[in-house]
Amino acid sequence: MSGSSSRRQAVEAVTSYTAPTTDFIESLGELFGRNIFGPTEMKNRLPKQIYKSVIATIDEGAPLDPSIADAVASAMRDWALEMGASHYAHVFYPLTGLTAEKHDSFLEPEGDSASLAQFSGKTLIQGEPDGSSFPNGGIRSTFEARGYTGWDVTSPAYILENPNGNTLCIPTVFISWTGEALDKKTPLLRSQQAMSKQASRVLKLFGHTDVDTVVSYAGAEQEYFLVDRHFYFSRPDLMASGRTLFGAKPSKGQEFDDHYFGAIPERVLAYMIEVDRELFKQGILAKTRHNEVAPGQFEIAPLFEKANLAHDHQQLMMTTLKKVAQRYGMECLLHEKPFKGVNGSGKHVNFSIGNNNQGNLLNPGDTPHDNAQFLVFCAAIIRSVHMYGGLLRAVVASASNDHRLGANEAPPAIISIFLGDQLADLFDQIAKGTITGSKTGSSLEVGVDTLPAFKADPGDRNRTSPFAFTGNRFEFRAPGSSQSISGPMVAVNTIMADSLEYIADTLDADVAAGTDFNTAVQSLLQKIILEHGAVVFNGDGYSEEWQQEAATRGLLNLKTTVDSLEQFNEPAIIEVLDKHKVLSPRELHSRYEVYLEQYILSIAVESKETLEIARTKILPAALRYQGELAQSAANLVSVGVDFDKGPLEQATTAVAGLTAAIAVLDKAVNTHGGETPAEEAAFARDTLIPAMLEVREETDKLEWIVADDLWPLPTYQEMLYIL
Ligand code: ADP
Ligand code: MG
Repeated sequence: MSGSSSRRQAVEAVTSYTAPTTDFIESLGELFGRNIFGPTEMKNRLPKQIYKSVIATIDEGAPLDPSIADAVASAMRDWALEMGASHYAHVFYPLTGLTAEKHDSFLEPEGDSASLAQFSGKTLIQGEPDGSSFPNGGIRSTFEARGYTGWDVTSPAYILENPNGNTLCIPTVFISWTGEALDKKTPLLRSQQAMSKQASRVLKLFGHTDVDTVVSYAGAEQEYFLVDRHFYFSRPDLMASGRTLFGAKPSKGQEFDDHYFGAIPERVLAYMIEVDRELFKQGILAKTRHNEVAPGQFEIAPLFEKANLAHDHQQLMMTTLKKVAQRYGMECLLHEKPFKGVNGSGKHVNFSIGNNNQGNLLNPGDTPHDNAQFLVFCAAIIRSVHMYGGLLRAVVASASNDHRLGANEAPPAIISIFLGDQLADLFDQIAKGTITGSKTGSSLEVGVDTLPAFKADPGDRNRTSPFAFTGNRFEFRAPGSSQSISGPMVAVNTIMADSLEYIADTLDADVAAGTDFNTAVQSLLQKIILEHGAVVFNGDGYSEEWQQEAATRGLLNLKTTVDSLEQFNEPAIIEVLDKHKVLSPRELHSRYEVYLEQYILSIAVESKETLEIARTKILPAALRYQGELAQSAANLVSVGVDFDKGPLEQATTAVAGLTAAIAVLDKAVNTHGGETPAEEAAFARDTLIPAMLEVREETDKLEWIVADDLWPLPTYQEMLYIL
């Protein structure tokens, strides 16, 4: 089958497609949380004392008391069997950013037959997957290849459904036998604890007596593309690397803005409804769904939750988006930049910190006193982002996210904070030491109890900032659509822990030295904004001026993953993660190596794929077209008709251009990139990527020339508009 006929078949299949219909019988109430072994189910099945103990663990994040593990395990097993599970799996989150599972049967051989396995507390608490093939950055050499998984009690076990049988899934941490973190969850839990410890100290200084564990909350907005699977399977580049390595810009792009928040196509809406249902079953409250800026692009956002749970749920959400899409004949693309020249996909991570007793600490309060506390937490964030912007940049670095960050697309690679006019103005006044009040204009005495009351306007938005205050939370917009939210949340928690510790230490010392608390707070706020205010920027983050201005302010502008990952070798960053017991220097270094390796691997796959497609699909099509032109020219000449040499010459030039670009890429692909991973990564960035781009440019020129029926790949027009 020639490429062009597969394109035609794809279009036919798309136009004659009808979505599967399902009987949606359950009410939302029945559906919600149906597949989880959460507090409700536990309460029904566990003796009161044991239930209480588990809940205490969930609320405080402490390890499960081994003496009650057996009871919990047996209740969980009974529930899972009733839910039709035949297997159980420890689910963990390796450094690839994906989700991994190891399945075991509940059945165990017993003599000639099989019996139900003892699902003991030990099995629940600890598993031993053969994790030697997961990247670990040198932490495990093969002789010590064992890795352990352990149930994270704060994240409920759930049932994974399959038409052929169900599986009980237990979310776990994944650590080496020496206790070192091999996954994305362990540091998240540790960072959570570090942040809570310091935040509680600050709250106590503000006079709170009943301080609960402080947690971070996260709500991630997930952007994604959908393409029909027929197109997907005719695009080996999409299949191998998740993005199109070729493709000329369609004549109609996104400039009309007619897709954004427009009516959702019927098949897509049917898909979204089923995704929501699947998520509801897992206790994930998917709240909003809508079209995004680019054609074929959409967004889903769940209600925010405790960061650890939000992380696990986000992973499940990505899996669900992909899985359900296939049922509707579509492929869900989570890549940050599937289509060149078309808006990319991000994963905005909204976060706040707080607890039930003290509420949301990033919410400006009603009284000046509450506002003082709010301003202190805000100042902590300003200090954190200014001091550790490099870490925030490094945790969102990946080969695919490089297409967004630092590439003239939202948000820029420079990490700055947007506060909104009102809050920025207030901090300006604090810096000057004279507060005249917010919008009131009347002069107020400087002091905590006299800080003006104000309500930040949530409508105050700046879409160009990577880190924006949005009324009662911050929104970190740099994470990419395919990334785990763990890295961003680990970074945020850790650097917050550091600033809150600094704040608590300073206030403690000042008060001990006899300074009145209000005065101490006032001067601390002033000190922080004077030292770290350079990170606040309310202007247009995309502008050229900002690039220059940021440089004069001393802010980092790390455009690529290769530069960004070096931040993991910065002494200040190694120290802050070590000091707060989130990642030891060895653990951090292992991550540096793994992420660098992943970068090298992604670019290697892409460049080989580019070479193969260019050689086996594009060049042959171009040569055929050139041959046809030559043939028709010869025919015309033989009957004495004049002909226009233009098209043949144009094709000949383009073919020559492509051939030359292929030769350069071929050489680069077969060159040894360097002795160290850092050298190899730099080679990928500086040699492979430009060589790939050159092949692409030549190909995209040909796409405008070659006869449509000869063109082997589905076009952007087809993939983006036929849904
Ligand atoms: P927008 O498009 O206006 O940015 P969305 O409603 O699409 O807002 O998404 C905002 C995300 O932020 C949601 O996941 C929401 O649950 C989350 N969110 C809202 N309030 C908070 C909060 N206090 N802390 C953390 N996340 C929050
Ligand atoms: Mg948003």
